[in-house]
Amino acid sequence: MPRVRVLLLGGTTEARRLAGLVAGEFTVVSSLAGRTRDPLLPAGDVRIGGFGGVTGLAAYLRETRIDVVVDATHPFAATMSEHAFEACAAVGVPLLVLRRPGWSAGPGDDWHRVASLAEAADLLPQRGRRVFLTTGRQGLASFAEHDGCWFLARSVEPPEAPMPRRMEVLLDRGPFTVAGERELIIRHRIDVLVTKDSGGSGAKLVAARELEIPVLMVDRPAAPAADTVSTADDAATWLRQRGR
Ligand code: NAP
Repeated sequence: MPRVRVLLLGGTTEARRLAGLVAGEFTVVSSLAGRTRDPLLPAGDVRIGGFGGVTGLAAYLRETRIDVVVDATHPFAATMSEHAFEACAAVGVPLLVLRRPGWSAGPGDDWHRVASLAEAADLLPQRGRRVFLTTGRQGLASFAEHDGCWFLARSVEPPEAPMPRRMEVLLDRGPFTVAGERELIIRHRIDVLVTKDSGGSGAKLVAARELEIPVLMVDRPAAPAADTVSTADDAATWLRQRGR
């Protein structure tokens, strides 16, 4: 019997983990956007680059006879998630969303939730002037006009203009440790952290709490209204129940 063909929309740790869990049972094609020059590659087949919108993705699903799509993209990759939802509906292919849980504030946290990077930028001078910016290189444009603040911006790939003038770039890819994050905050005299509510280990949030640094937390975009799980293990179980 031919194996079930899974398209795994990736670019996250969870997607790589899921590919590793099920590549021996299903035919898995992981899809990466191609933003990172030296991506960590998952098990199974890999394709790289956009599909060409909803129409392109729908055509890809038909042509490659995909049986099921798992959207394991980053919680802030809203366009890709929306396209997956629409293309799957158009072609009649089941969709599972794998999305790690967001963060919630606990005792000792000084968080301010905002709806967008622009709103975080608006609040910045009041909240702090030495800013640890962990929103990724594509988010830097929102802070480009902030000459009154100094930024430590961390990203996997070098950023491109527009970006803040007073900024040091730290090229690094997680996982990060609490001790490492604490050291960065102290060394650079950071007085505010700006982050997207990506979820994950959250070492920077623990360090910010310990050092009593306020956090501007950018809320997630709405997720597609599809079956959703929060771990790679649960996604693997869902796939196994659906068919083999
Ligand atoms: P996005 O804004 O939602 O997507 C923009 C376009 O990029 C999509 O319309 C699609 O092009 C293409 N694309 C995105 N993800 C793709 C994938 N997995 N495979 C093939 N094409 C993809 O996405 P983004 O926020 O730029 O994120 C791009 C990738 O980086 C995603 O795979 C995501 O998981 C990963 N990532 C994003 C963030 C973040 O903060 N946004 C953080 C870490 C990792 P077409 O319309 O041509 O199909």
